[in-house]
Amino acid sequence: MKEGAIVDRRTALARLSSVVAAGASWPKLISKSRAEDSGRRTGRAVRARVRKIATEEAFVIPEVAAALREVAQKGGPSLDLKLMNLIYNSASASTFEIQTPTTPPPTNRDAYARTLLPRLLDLEEHRLAEMDANGVDVHLLSLATPGVQMFARGKAIELATLANDRLSEVVGRHPKRFAGLASFAPQDAAAAAKEMERAIKTLGLNGFIVNSHTDNRYLDDQRFWPILEAAEALDAPLYIHPRPPSDGMAAPFADYRMEGAIWGYGVETGTHVARLMLSGVLDRFPKIRIVIGHMGEALPYWLWRLDYMASPGSRAALRNKLKPSEYLQRNFAITTSGLDDPLALRYAIDKIGIDHVMWAIDYPFQSTPGSVAFIENASLSDTEREQVAYRNAERIFRIS
Ligand code: MN
Repeated sequence: MKEGAIVDRRTALARLSSVVAAGASWPKLISKSRAEDSGRRTGRAVRARVRKIATEEAFVIPEVAAALREVAQKGGPSLDLKLMNLIYNSASASTFEIQTPTTPPPTNRDAYARTLLPRLLDLEEHRLAEMDANGVDVHLLSLATPGVQMFARGKAIELATLANDRLSEVVGRHPKRFAGLASFAPQDAAAAAKEMERAIKTLGLNGFIVNSHTDNRYLDDQRFWPILEAAEALDAPLYIHPRPPSDGMAAPFADYRMEGAIWGYGVETGTHVARLMLSGVLDRFPKIRIVIGHMGEALPYWLWRLDYMASPGSRAALRNKLKPSEYLQRNFAITTSGLDDPLALRYAIDKIGIDHVMWAIDYPFQSTPGSVAFIENASLSDTEREQVAYRNAERIFRIS
């Protein structure tokens, strides 16, 4: 069968692993030729391959996929359902298009969507092969958006626990290739805080993931404070990953399919972070560490104006004790997930500091070869490249 044909998942994985076993020298060849290309272009000496920890890499377990399909089938107003229907509720959910690890995802929307569920479900075959083929050392794994946040309370707690158990098992089998962010159910903040403690103290995971709003509410809401308190007490970072805009801000995003990565994610999550800054909640939990993706969800670019409007004493500063830029410095780090623009990277580093920026791919939603080329070729000093590609992630997420 030729490439691109649809085969069942088991056949495809078996074929892929035999291809990878036969071609064990791929990673070296690919890294070398890319480094040589870049050396030729710039006239500099060929650089050694830099270690790479990708910090916003999604996975799903079958039980969560099945529960998401049920939610999608029930329907409702949530803009999450558009992507959920495409990934979890389509006829192609049990098949996928076999691809070699270096093939970029197809640009056609439906063909692309067919590649997502198998890639989210697979951790140890296709994913590791693709990481090897592209010289990616570590995926910091997190349950794909919207995680467990659309389930009823009991089911959300149960599935977060199960996902964390599976995550810790796979990290245990591949401790040099995977690290993990734990899920929790914000629907029950007290239970969430308990699971967060188990995730760090018992499972040894590296932090937490939350997909923006829950029940259309944001983390500054007092009902979620036990979660912020736990993250601060456990001294482990909380990654705020996007969801589409909450119901109250949905309408202008819906008709042109702007709810997702194209625009809605950034606006939504940027708004969430502005709420955390301006609500004063970061004064209550001053040691909390928060990570946001997508080059800071536009906040670095907006920072001067945020400070101008909302520094303490000015009109829009109702509750915050610090300037927005001071919170950003003290409490936040950003990742490059899904925004492979070297100019934006340069700006973010100069604006918020080299210690605050980490590389990410946003697997499987964006291209691994594209993100690798981006971080290898971006105009950075060797030290800066090392910090962004892996050193900051090692420090912030305690990955060794
Ligand atoms: Mn993502």
